[in-house]
Amino acid sequence: MIVNRMYKYRLYPNKEQVKLLTSQLKSLCNIYNHLLKIKINVYKENKRSLSRKDLNALVKAWDKHIHSQVRQNVADRVDKAFNNFFNRIKLKKSYAKVKVGFPRFKADHRYNSLTYPQSGFNLLNNRILHLSKIGDIIIKFHRPIEGKIKTLSIKRSPTGKWYVCFSCEVPVTKKRHKFLDKQVGIDVGLENFATLSTGNVITNPRYLIKSENKLSKSQRCLSRKFKGSKNRTKARLKVAKLHEKITNQRMDFLHKQSHYLSNTYNYIVVESLNIKNMMKNRYLAKHIADASWNTFIQLLSYKAASAGGQLICVDPKYTSIKCSCCGKNVPKKLSVREHNCPFCDLKLHRDHNAAINILHSNKIPLGRRESTPVEIFDRKSLKQDAPQL
Ligand SMILES: [Zn+2]
Repeated sequence: MIVNRMYKYRLYPNKEQVKLLTSQLKSLCNIYNHLLKIKINVYKENKRSLSRKDLNALVKAWDKHIHSQVRQNVADRVDKAFNNFFNRIKLKKSYAKVKVGFPRFKADHRYNSLTYPQSGFNLLNNRILHLSKIGDIIIKFHRPIEGKIKTLSIKRSPTGKWYVCFSCEVPVTKKRHKFLDKQVGIDVGLENFATLSTGNVITNPRYLIKSENKLSKSQRCLSRKFKGSKNRTKARLKVAKLHEKITNQRMDFLHKQSHYLSNTYNYIVVESLNIKNMMKNRYLAKHIADASWNTFIQLLSYKAASAGGQLICVDPKYTSIKCSCCGKNVPKKLSVREHNCPFCDLKLHRDHNAAINILHSNKIPLGRRESTPVEIFDRKSLKQDAPQL
């Protein structure tokens, strides 16, 4: 089996290279907006849609100081934007929950990446990245690349840091997990980030909530600055840095937890949550977004597979109501944190009880598990659940 993996590294371009990269991004943004305008105008005047080939031909004459394939990639992006738009219209007709937006013109501070789709780049001694029409940039190569490199993208973060992303095709062989019969059910919540069926608890770090005061102060400061002024740029950088810090803290936490779980347990059972619907509760939305369960489940999914284990999604129905000992339903409000069963006298924390139920609702019989595929995780449902942040 071959899977696509992304490897991201920090780049350290010098002042001249930063200037060059910034000016290239600006030109590419202009090309993008131009192509979009031409495509719209041609359709308005001739009722004809320009194909990808037409767009590619248009790009050829533009800015020759940018690598030809990087320019062509802009034409692909415009084409893709329209394809996505039409696909979403089709989806909306069959199922009403999709948001449809016409491809938009972009401001140059929002156009932050350029792509070399096949060639024009070279990695020298794992220390220097050679880019055609830009030069040799120092790269912090903190981990080795696996598989075959397909494309390369250069990215600029809102705080002005530069990164390179290699998209690679990696052959994956089916591995055996080091613990063959270890299994766990996980209930995610807000009181605690997650409760395991073993009774262990992962506490919720609440990074966003902790930095909220600082963030709102710097955002207030930004809104007072005049548009286009230097002070506004400074204030915007301050806000962006805070956001970056919160994201880094959160991703660090999620990576560590999912790494530990996928290495300790062969079978990880979680409930498939409809996070988009949950986000509609405006009192909880901020906290749910801060907990980022969706990213956590995505990380668990690929980490479990590469450790030789499995992530299994089950239906969340009745998991918090059912008694994990006798199986009878014990209805309770969200504010009641204890599970007290009147039928069998079981006393447990409500999330612990739910986690045991989640583990039990896994329907794959124990003996047959060796022959089941590595990943039976339903990617489609995961995509639909992704919160729009
Ligand atoms: Zn009971």
